[in-house]
Amino acid sequence: MQSKTKYYEEKETKYIEAKCNVCNKKRDFAEVDEKKEYTRGIPRKKAHWICNSCKRKIKRKELWEKVKGFMQASRIQTAPFAAAVIYMAYLSGLDKQMWLNIILPFLGGLVHMVGCIHNSIIDTVMGYDTKDSNKVHGYTTGVLDAKKHKKMINWIILVFAVILSIIGVFGANNILSLLGIIFLVVGGYVYNNISKQTYFGFIPIGVSYAGMVLYGFSLSHSTVLLIDLFPLIIYVMAVTMIQIAFWGELKDMEYDEKSLVKKLGVKLENNYLTITKKFDIMYFTFRALSLSPLIVYMVLTHDPNHIIQTVHLSLWMFVFVLIAFWLNTKIFQFKEWNRRKIFLYINFSEFLFIFLMFPFFIKWWIVFVILPVSVGLWIGLNKLLWDDYVQKT
Ligand SMILES: [Zn+2]
Repeated sequence: MQSKTKYYEEKETKYIEAKCNVCNKKRDFAEVDEKKEYTRGIPRKKAHWICNSCKRKIKRKELWEKVKGFMQASRIQTAPFAAAVIYMAYLSGLDKQMWLNIILPFLGGLVHMVGCIHNSIIDTVMGYDTKDSNKVHGYTTGVLDAKKHKKMINWIILVFAVILSIIGVFGANNILSLLGIIFLVVGGYVYNNISKQTYFGFIPIGVSYAGMVLYGFSLSHSTVLLIDLFPLIIYVMAVTMIQIAFWGELKDMEYDEKSLVKKLGVKLENNYLTITKKFDIMYFTFRALSLSPLIVYMVLTHDPNHIIQTVHLSLWMFVFVLIAFWLNTKIFQFKEWNRRKIFLYINFSEFLFIFLMFPFFIKWWIVFVILPVSVGLWIGLNKLLWDDYVQKT
């Protein structure tokens, strides 16, 4: 009984009632806190009265800002598409394993995120992203320290390469998987370090994506038929290179100095966009050419007993290309510069060109699972990270 009374007395003397500066509710503040403030000889100001539940809320918010900044810098919203491509390459093989079926989509997404974090760090440290107000991520907003992370990221890339190699050992084709990792890492590393200082950044990034596909492919193909491998790799390379060389540069027109698009005469003056015939013709020529690996593959693998499959593929391709080209002509008609709107059109046309290839290599029902999941994640993550349906990177 006596101990209880003592406890009560202790409580009475150690707490002071005051209004919390954040929630404005009357709270008991421990005198201990006040003593802490006095240790530096500075009296505690009224503004410092913050109750414990508000303190926890502030801490949670700070943590979320960091996580959000990290997700933005890793371009997690497009990770589902990169993961889908690597997964498709894997699913196209016969020597699949249950554990790979499960971990590969996540691994593919992580590979994309590590590459993009590296890109965000380099572009921030070099000053490109900080002067570009369109680039909103943890390193440009300052919640993450680019200079500090620049030292760590190389180790993370190395660790990742080792993890991919170990998984590759258990895959179907060790040599091919090692080759894939080398292309993926070297291509990505070179791209991230030179992309802003050269016109030809689209080459290393194309090599990097080819490596990614090669890696996914190697895990399930103990016997490699070139007719299965080449159309897939060439198409992915072409899509990546066109995306970076044309659209990637167009969306960054406001700030990019070394731009292939500007070399083709495209101008942005007084918020007015002029897209030249030269750009127009170059784009559609390369786009049309990029479809040839798929057409060649369809013709060469055509099964006379399953004509319906070829008909379905042709129809699918026709519809996707039609919608994508319509979106592209819309972009070419833009007059007033509206980055958000242009970006939205670019994104949708690119998704169409990515998913266009899927049923050529994997079963239809899987395509109809992967497609809505990827697009749904992309929309949801954009909304979460930028409160918009278009990413700000
Ligand atoms: Zn409070």
